Amino acid sequence: MKTKTHQAVVLKDVPCPFCSLICDDLVIQNSDGKLTVKENGCAIVEAHFSQSPPDDTPALKGKSCSIDKAIEVAARILKQSSQPLLAGLGTDIRGMRSVMRLADNIGATIDHMHSDGAIRNTLVLQDLGWVMTTMSEIKNRADFIIFAGTDASNYPRFFERVIWNKDSLFSDVKKRKIVYIGDKLNTSAGKSLEGTLPTVLKCEQEEINEIISVLHTIIAGNKIHQPIIAGINLITLQKLANQMKEAKYGVIVWAPGELNFPHAELTIQSICELVKYLTRTTRFAGFTLAGGDGVMSANSLSAWQSGFPLRVNFSKGFPKQDVGRNSTKNLLKNKEVDALIWISSFSSNNNPPKANIPTIVLATPGTKLNFKPDVFIPVATPGIDHSGQLIRTDNVVSLTLKKLRDSKYKSVSDILNRMIDLI
Ligand code: SF4
Repeated sequence: MKTKTHQAVVLKDVPCPFCSLICDDLVIQNSDGKLTVKENGCAIVEAHFSQSPPDDTPALKGKSCSIDKAIEVAARILKQSSQPLLAGLGTDIRGMRSVMRLADNIGATIDHMHSDGAIRNTLVLQDLGWVMTTMSEIKNRADFIIFAGTDASNYPRFFERVIWNKDSLFSDVKKRKIVYIGDKLNTSAGKSLEGTLPTVLKCEQEEINEIISVLHTIIAGNKIHQPIIAGINLITLQKLANQMKEAKYGVIVWAPGELNFPHAELTIQSICELVKYLTRTTRFAGFTLAGGDGVMSANSLSAWQSGFPLRVNFSKGFPKQDVGRNSTKNLLKNKEVDALIWISSFSSNNNPPKANIPTIVLATPGTKLNFKPDVFIPVATPGIDHSGQLIRTDNVVSLTLKKLRDSKYKSVSDILNRMIDLI
């Protein structure tokens, strides 16, 4: 008897779906469905590929069932619900289109698992607007980059691809000046290719706003009489303010999810207002590191189709956004919803909230649940098990994801569309 042998297949220029940078240069080897990163990976993507996908089945309250039965029960739960919540929303553009269709159909509320961070940006954009830049612009033009409250370590290839990228078109990459402001930041990546250390202003995350406001005051030509601000010497801030004015193309980078304290949107607003002020005399822009699990795609899809970014309710027959009331946490705490669908198709580490209402979980195979949902359906991962599209952190590029292996699991979109057909 002959043994069937399979050749390993090497795929180039593969976009990675596991954080919002969506690096599109990975080299991946597929050996009988086992994926290995050959080039251009990082710790996050290695962790995702280190294990083969576990065998998982749809289940009703923990008992295995067919996919048809699981979809039928899920559709029945949604049909009987008067205020459903579609949360998690870890999916790609096609999955989000189905989420929007379903939400409109059943009068649901939609909220993403990383909305707490995304909303901080939304509030600023809706209130006073901002001047933002892209990854390519930073790579090719920026000479002065301030990291406010983030070290970008949740985006492991940001420095390699954007800051110290030797293929930069216009800037002298080696001479880029890097500044960090904030607490518990790993500043090692900010050391330049010539060995110049970054400037580090250490302060509490909550104090970043004070520092930014004082910088704005100095740059606007006003006097500050306090010698120390948030633990930083005024002379240091005056020097930084001069460097900002002299920059040819400055950027302030923040990650809204890492500014995790009450009213952090005011810190983001101060950053954006400082950026706007600086554009009177030089080029300056903001840049945001958005988080993963398709949050940029979910937010954009919601805005394209409903006119509002996330935390939208469709129960009145038209979309209504309320960033406080429509949070998953508040809706569950206030008992304002009577059924929950939780979607997470990128990582098995995302756990749905445990709620005392009928719960449907569409999640990556092997997701460890600390309760038995009414319906569990394992789903395929976009960019791994099926092709798709995701929007990058700078919100201007949508990348086409590739299918890297055969999978027995269906996409979020396929499952939701079948539910919609039954409702
Ligand atoms: S930095 Fe992000 S997008 Fe790039 S390879 Fe790592 S996880 Fe993937």
